[in-house]
Amino acid sequence: MSTDPPPKPQLLLLETHPGLGASSVAQLESMGYHLHWTSDLQAFLKLQAELHPQVLIVELERGEVGPSPQDLTQLLQARDEGVPLVLVSVQNDLTARLQAVRSGCDIYLSYPLDLTLLARRLDLLLDPPPHEPERVLVVEDSHIQASYLGNILREAGMEVCLLTDPQLALERLGDFKPDLILMDLYMPRCTGIELAAAIRMDPTFLGIPIVFLSSEMERSTQLEALGQGADDFLTKPIQPQHLVSSVRIRAERTRLIRSLMSRDSLTGLRNHSAMKSRLEEEWNRAQRGQAPFAFAMVDLDHFKQVNDRFGHPFGDQVLQSLSHLFQRRLRRTDLVGRLGGEEFGILFTGTTLKAAFPILDSLRADFAHLDHLSPQGPTRYTFSAGIVSSQGPFGSAAALWEAADKALYQAKAGGRNRVYVG
Ligand code: GH3
Ligand code: MG
Ligand code: MG
Ligand code: MG
Repeated sequence: MSTDPPPKPQLLLLETHPGLGASSVAQLESMGYHLHWTSDLQAFLKLQAELHPQVLIVELERGEVGPSPQDLTQLLQARDEGVPLVLVSVQNDLTARLQAVRSGCDIYLSYPLDLTLLARRLDLLLDPPPHEPERVLVVEDSHIQASYLGNILREAGMEVCLLTDPQLALERLGDFKPDLILMDLYMPRCTGIELAAAIRMDPTFLGIPIVFLSSEMERSTQLEALGQGADDFLTKPIQPQHLVSSVRIRAERTRLIRSLMSRDSLTGLRNHSAMKSRLEEEWNRAQRGQAPFAFAMVDLDHFKQVNDRFGHPFGDQVLQSLSHLFQRRLRRTDLVGRLGGEEFGILFTGTTLKAAFPILDSLRADFAHLDHLSPQGPTRYTFSAGIVSSQGPFGSAAALWEAADKALYQAKAGGRNRVYVG
């Protein structure tokens, strides 16, 4: 299994102040971007043709210095389709901004430059979060009906789990984690209404929409179903298009609510409880003999002093920049969470400790060299971490969590800015 991070996007900078490229390259590198730069327009055009950079950055300047509007036009004409343009300007007035808008710029920055912000904006532009297929659990005793519904929903790009035995519903809910349940009203052994009531007894499943499907035309039965916690009633035969859109609208809303509830507002990372339940899932998977994983706990060193010296908002910026570094540099399959305060958790799925350790240690080294722009100039910080393997001698996910915490504590005691294995 590959543990390589994705290749770094290439940025090409036309600088006006000599030194902007040289002073930014290391920080952009540690946030996952590779920067090339020149101060000469002809050299820029040549590099543009050779490298096909993913982003163009142009530093503007007041008055005579810097690229002219004609220069800008020329380099924009030479760019590959869809390549975003970042303009950096010493001015930040409306005239400058309008000029930027008219030249079709995608990101506009002024001094002092916040490279963390630039990297975050570029991430979203170059690699927007993927749309994950909606997950629908279909409970329907008739095999023919079930596979008919399944085909329609799958064709619309959804992930479907078909259940013809309602007895298995509770079990499947836990591991399939649907965004919506589509349920038949009349089934053997229990009715859909009874099953809905049984599902709603578990607070974990209170938020999942339940939509009933039935040929039932009687208004009173429909109302009874709604009273038992059903969200809607679709009457058979149903138009495929109507089925798809009813399911999609509700599933999206569940998604949104779920993601708002499981994300940390400062960093957008998973929160403590989301991380803990993912760790449980991974643990159960590993127990079934599927892919091992590694789990790390990370804590910023002497972070109290950061707030004490520069204030809480600056401390928040440092937390965001560390979270950004993790998100950029780890693979999509690695899960990052903010466990609380200045503590983070990383779940390296499908990865051995041997493979995960060097990744984490290089993140540690890179973070230590990252400049944070404090009110008194650039400053640097470090973190310590404890990492454990699912293949270690742990009896439960909780024990593994505790071992990572203990290893982190030992890394602190051992001098900080280091990764210890637990
Ligand atoms: P150590 O190296 O031992 O971890 O020292 P420390 O100072 O990092 O640890 P301590 O637990 O004493 O302090 C953690 C500090 O983190 C306290 C608090 O001011 C800060 N902190 C926690 N959450 C936030 C946050 O959301 N924003 C900011 N700015 N600071 C936070
Ligand atoms: Mg039936
Ligand atoms: Mg700390
Ligand atoms: Mg702490």
